[in-house]
Amino acid sequence: MMAPATPTDRSSPVAALAPRWVSTRSPQGEAVSFIEALSRGLAPDGGLYVPITVPALPKLRPGSAFGEVARACLSPWISGLYPEPVWRAAVTDALSFDVPLVTLDGPTWRGVHVLELFHGPTCSFKDFGARTMARLLAASAQKADAHVFVATSGDTGSAVADGFSGLPGFRVVLLYPEGQVSPVQERQLALRREGVAAFRVRGTFDDCQALAKGVFADQRFRYLAPTSANSINAGRLLPQMLYYVHAANQLGTAPWFCVPSGNLGNLTAGVFAMLGGMDTPGFVAAHNANDSFARFLGGATARFGPSVRTLSNAMDVGAPSNFERLTHLLGPTRLRSLVHAEVVGDEDTLRCMRAVHDETGYVCDPHTAVGLEAARRLRQGSAGESRPIVVLSTAHPAKFPEVVRTALGFDPAEPPALAALLDRPERVRTIDPTQDALLAALREQDFSA
Ligand SMILES: *Cc1c(COP(=O)(O)O)cnc(C)c1O
Repeated sequence: MMAPATPTDRSSPVAALAPRWVSTRSPQGEAVSFIEALSRGLAPDGGLYVPITVPALPKLRPGSAFGEVARACLSPWISGLYPEPVWRAAVTDALSFDVPLVTLDGPTWRGVHVLELFHGPTCSFKDFGARTMARLLAASAQKADAHVFVATSGDTGSAVADGFSGLPGFRVVLLYPEGQVSPVQERQLALRREGVAAFRVRGTFDDCQALAKGVFADQRFRYLAPTSANSINAGRLLPQMLYYVHAANQLGTAPWFCVPSGNLGNLTAGVFAMLGGMDTPGFVAAHNANDSFARFLGGATARFGPSVRTLSNAMDVGAPSNFERLTHLLGPTRLRSLVHAEVVGDEDTLRCMRAVHDETGYVCDPHTAVGLEAARRLRQGSAGESRPIVVLSTAHPAKFPEVVRTALGFDPAEPPALAALLDRPERVRTIDPTQDALLAALREQDFSA
């Protein structure tokens, strides 16, 4: 069923080509442009924005570079909403790093390919969404002089800080729990960056999230024009669709995609690609002990609870925020036939890191290991699956040196992007988990470079 789209900007006839977006909670209700969905984040009724139609992917030349794939595939989603050279420059600048597809060998890993999504500035796949979203928001300039509030327990905060830093019209306020992020993650979060304030909160991640939400309800923060950049934003999902298409185009045959998952944003982006025509037998949602989505796919009614802590902490999510979007896009029956889940505990995660290293020499991070173990099970399962499998590698192993050391007995090599951080100054303040403390700290905050 399609909702009748509200008329688009008539002064720009091309704008009619880009799909309009509606809320998962009122698909017959107000339809907005991508730019509106991007700047709002959540729909006013609390739902998530989904496109009314999914544009067909363009025909790609085999072996195209990632940048070409990115511009060609985004074009039907956003053309007409920005001047062509403006969005092309924004996307090119946002995604100016490598996206290698590494082929593993050895009997266990035959036909398994690792799509390395960690070559951006903060070394996790969050760079794709955060950098693109920041530049597209800046280009649309609807929220100039806004403050982007981000509660983070891991990779999102640094990616968003990097994504917006130095873009005119935006400042970023990071809130992370004291003592609950890894040392490397803290080094990335506490870095002094132009336009970024980092607060180490005496509390838990939930306290940070409550603080960030509280900003929108508390009139005293109004003067900061608060906005958010969490993983439900449509602007973070679209760019994540691109590397699926790129990997399939590189291989030339339809692969399975094995996706280390938490909030299911990455998986949803893959579903966008499939709905646009990318050929794939299906997806594997690879989860750690936080298995609510796996239980749902197994036939249970959706039931979400608090998260449990694991070695792959960026996937410690009890209630995946994109669940509502996925079920809207596919419906429960199609979802269950296209997405298969695997649950990988910490012991199996460590064992997989060791097995991959012993058999192939490849060093992976714990999130990627959850994906690789799920791929191994798919390959060795009773169905005798023999088609290629692309495992999305979501973070560089050097972001999790403690886990790599436990699994392999040595420290992973640091990429230059992380090593360089050691010499750069920090700027972070510790605050109590109250709106008063945050307000007072922001009044005195220095946002300069
Ligand atoms: C965010 C994150 C994930 C989970 O991605 P979702 O889109 O939330 O499912 C997996 N691995 C790493 C390293 C991450 O930072």
